[in-house]
Amino acid sequence: MLGGAGRPVTMPDVLDADPSPPQISTYRSLNVLERAGVIRRIITGGEHAYFELAEPLLDHHHHLICIDCGLVEDVELGSEVEEAVDQTLAAAARRAGFAPHHHSLDLHGHCSACA
Ligand SMILES: [Zn+2]
Ligand SMILES: [Zn+2]
Repeated sequence: MLGGAGRPVTMPDVLDADPSPPQISTYRSLNVLERAGVIRRIITGGEHAYFELAEPLLDHHHHLICIDCGLVEDVELGSEVEEAVDQTLAAAARRAGFAPHHHSLDLHGHCSACA
Protein backbone atom coordinates (compact mmCIF):
# COMPACT_ATOMS: atom_id res chain seq x y z
CA MET A 1 0.00 0.00 0.00
CA LEU A 2 2.73 2.47 0.99
CA GLY A 3 4.92 1.04 -1.73
CA GLY A 4 2.32 1.27 -4.46
CA ALA A 5 1.02 4.79 -3.96
CA GLY A 6 3.91 6.42 -5.82
CA ARG A 7 3.91 9.38 -3.46
CA PRO A 8 3.89 9.98 0.27
CA VAL A 9 0.57 9.17 1.91
CA THR A 10 -1.34 10.56 4.89
CA MET A 11 -3.20 8.62 7.53
CA PRO A 12 -6.57 9.30 5.81
CA ASP A 13 -5.07 7.94 2.54
CA VAL A 14 -4.06 4.75 4.35
CA LEU A 15 -7.49 4.40 5.93
CA ASP A 16 -9.22 5.00 2.57
CA ALA A 17 -7.08 2.35 0.94
CA ASP A 18 -7.79 -0.24 3.61
CA PRO A 19 -10.85 0.56 5.72
CA SER A 20 -10.91 -2.84 7.48
CA PRO A 21 -8.73 -2.19 10.56
CA PRO A 22 -9.99 0.31 13.11
CA GLN A 23 -8.19 3.66 12.95
CA ILE A 24 -6.30 3.17 16.20
CA SER A 25 -4.65 -0.09 15.12
CA THR A 26 -3.59 1.46 11.80
CA TYR A 27 -2.02 4.27 13.77
CA ARG A 28 -0.22 1.79 16.02
CA SER A 29 1.10 -0.24 13.10
CA LEU A 30 2.43 2.92 11.43
CA ASN A 31 4.26 3.79 14.64
CA VAL A 32 5.67 0.27 14.90
CA LEU A 33 6.81 0.34 11.25
CA GLU A 34 8.36 3.76 11.79
CA ARG A 35 10.29 2.59 14.85
CA ALA A 36 11.49 -0.47 12.93
CA GLY A 37 12.85 1.81 10.19
CA VAL A 38 10.55 0.41 7.48
CA ILE A 39 8.67 3.67 6.94
CA ARG A 40 9.46 7.22 7.83
CA ARG A 41 7.34 10.19 8.78
CA ILE A 42 7.68 13.37 6.72
CA ILE A 43 7.43 16.51 8.84
CA THR A 44 5.18 18.93 6.94
CA GLY A 45 4.04 21.28 9.70
CA GLY A 46 0.54 20.58 8.39
CA GLU A 47 -2.47 18.84 9.86
CA HIS A 48 -1.64 15.30 8.69
CA ALA A 49 1.54 13.30 9.08
CA TYR A 50 2.86 11.91 5.80
CA PHE A 51 4.51 8.51 5.64
CA GLU A 52 6.63 6.79 3.02
CA LEU A 53 8.83 3.74 2.79
CA ALA A 54 12.24 4.34 4.34
CA GLU A 55 15.48 4.10 2.40
CA PRO A 56 16.77 1.85 0.96
CA LEU A 57 13.27 0.53 0.16
CA LEU A 58 12.77 3.79 -1.73
CA ASP A 59 15.56 5.52 -3.64
CA HIS A 60 17.07 8.52 -1.91
CA HIS A 61 15.10 11.70 -2.62
CA HIS A 62 13.86 14.93 -1.13
CA HIS A 63 10.47 16.60 -0.76
CA LEU A 64 8.66 19.70 -1.93
CA ILE A 65 6.11 20.56 0.75
CA CYS A 66 3.31 23.09 0.15
CA ILE A 67 2.80 25.25 3.26
CA ASP A 68 -0.72 26.15 2.06
CA CYS A 69 -2.41 22.86 1.16
CA GLY A 70 0.11 20.36 2.60
CA LEU A 71 0.88 18.65 -0.73
CA VAL A 72 4.10 16.61 -0.59
CA GLU A 73 5.96 15.79 -3.80
CA ASP A 74 9.13 13.75 -4.22
CA VAL A 75 12.10 15.37 -5.94
CA GLU A 76 15.52 13.99 -6.89
CA LEU A 77 18.59 16.19 -6.91
CA GLY A 78 21.04 14.08 -8.89
CA SER A 79 24.21 12.34 -7.72
CA GLU A 80 26.55 15.36 -8.07
CA VAL A 81 24.45 17.51 -5.76
CA GLU A 82 23.94 14.62 -3.36
CA GLU A 83 27.70 14.00 -3.13
CA ALA A 84 28.37 17.69 -2.49
CA VAL A 85 25.66 17.79 0.20
CA ASP A 86 27.02 14.64 1.87
CA GLN A 87 30.61 15.94 1.84
CA THR A 88 29.62 19.34 3.24
CA LEU A 89 27.47 17.79 5.96
CA ALA A 90 30.11 15.18 6.80
CA ALA A 91 32.73 17.90 7.28
CA ALA A 92 30.41 19.88 9.55
CA ALA A 93 29.52 16.71 11.47
CA ARG A 94 33.20 15.81 11.95
CA ARG A 95 33.90 19.24 13.47
CA ALA A 96 31.07 18.59 15.95
CA GLY A 97 32.29 15.05 16.74
CA PHE A 98 29.06 13.73 15.23
CA ALA A 99 28.84 10.45 13.29
CA PRO A 100 26.57 11.05 10.28
CA HIS A 101 24.11 8.36 9.17
CA HIS A 102 21.91 9.96 6.50
CA HIS A 103 20.54 13.37 5.59
CA SER A 104 17.05 14.59 4.86
CA LEU A 105 16.29 17.88 3.16
CA ASP A 106 12.82 19.16 2.41
CA LEU A 107 11.86 22.39 0.67
CA HIS A 108 8.83 24.26 2.04
CA GLY A 109 6.95 26.66 -0.21
CA HIS A 110 3.86 27.06 -2.41
CA CYS A 111 2.75 24.41 -4.92
CA SER A 112 1.68 25.36 -8.45
CA ALA A 113 -2.00 25.27 -7.44
CA CYS A 114 -1.46 27.57 -4.44
CA ALA A 115 1.25 29.91 -5.78
ZN1 LIG B 1 -0.63 23.81 -2.32
ZN1 LIG C 1 19.85 13.86 -0.48
